[in-house]
Amino acid sequence: MPRSPRIDLHTHSTASDGTDSPAALVAAAAGAEVDVVAITDHDTTGGWDEAATALPAGMRLVRGAEFSCVSPSGRDGERDVSVHLLGYLFDPAHPAIEAEQARLREERHRRLVGMTERMAADGYPIDVEAVFAYLPAGASAGRPHLARALVAAGVVESVNAAFATLLYTGSPYYVPKADTPVRAAIEMVRAAGGVAVFAHPLARGRGRVVEPSVIADLTAAGLGGVEVEHPDHAEPDRALLRGLAAELGLVTTGSSDYHGTNKTTPIAAETTTGDALDELVARAAGGVGVLTGCPLPWFR
Ligand SMILES: [Zn+2]
Ligand SMILES: [Zn+2]
Repeated sequence: MPRSPRIDLHTHSTASDGTDSPAALVAAAAGAEVDVVAITDHDTTGGWDEAATALPAGMRLVRGAEFSCVSPSGRDGERDVSVHLLGYLFDPAHPAIEAEQARLREERHRRLVGMTERMAADGYPIDVEAVFAYLPAGASAGRPHLARALVAAGVVESVNAAFATLLYTGSPYYVPKADTPVRAAIEMVRAAGGVAVFAHPLARGRGRVVEPSVIADLTAAGLGGVEVEHPDHAEPDRALLRGLAAELGLVTTGSSDYHGTNKTTPIAAETTTGDALDELVARAAGGVGVLTGCPLPWFR
């Protein structure tokens, strides 16, 4: 019997805040005997071409992105919650996608400059030029770039320590950015022929999370799936999400959220089933050019 495919649907490259170039990311996936890897950089599709070019024979690439969004919390009187939405197999040239990604890249740039300037004003030995030296041309700016500059300047020992002590949400140096309303992001991904999956919805260690009622509302608005197996999800929350997905008819996924050496989770630490990927592909029908050469269903 052939072994079941090994599928990781959520990874980051140097096109956002990972440490592997898109080619190195694909090589890392090959080294981990991954059959299908999705490249899902924050707010950019800039790594797609390099990853596709580097793809070894027999491996499949799912083109995706992780959109920074805000969502109602589902609790009365509470402000919006920051959430991430994975979009897969959408047309990156769709005008709605291009406009929103350009706006978000600008937001990320502005935010990183703002945080750097606040720290420099407080006497930390960093400046905007040093921070942006860690950002490859065209990549989307993130706090890990600032973290690496802080490590290089000897302020902290590691990227993790930088986040824990200086860069966390709500720190005196934190500058917020204006993210996309999650419902609009779902509509944008669907309009561009893709499928939308709610990334790590119950990653409580990252801050406030949404109520299950919000996931139900977003399903009615076109959400296709929910990430269940994720390093930041506790087992009771995984069980809750599996039940909710079954009730709502959402596809369930599992992913490493690999960031190279910026995080400790290895690629394919959590995986998605072939059936779930088939269902996502079916729901994404309409994506332009993404499935070229990939007969459907992919694994039978
Ligand atoms: Zn995320
Ligand atoms: Zn991610």
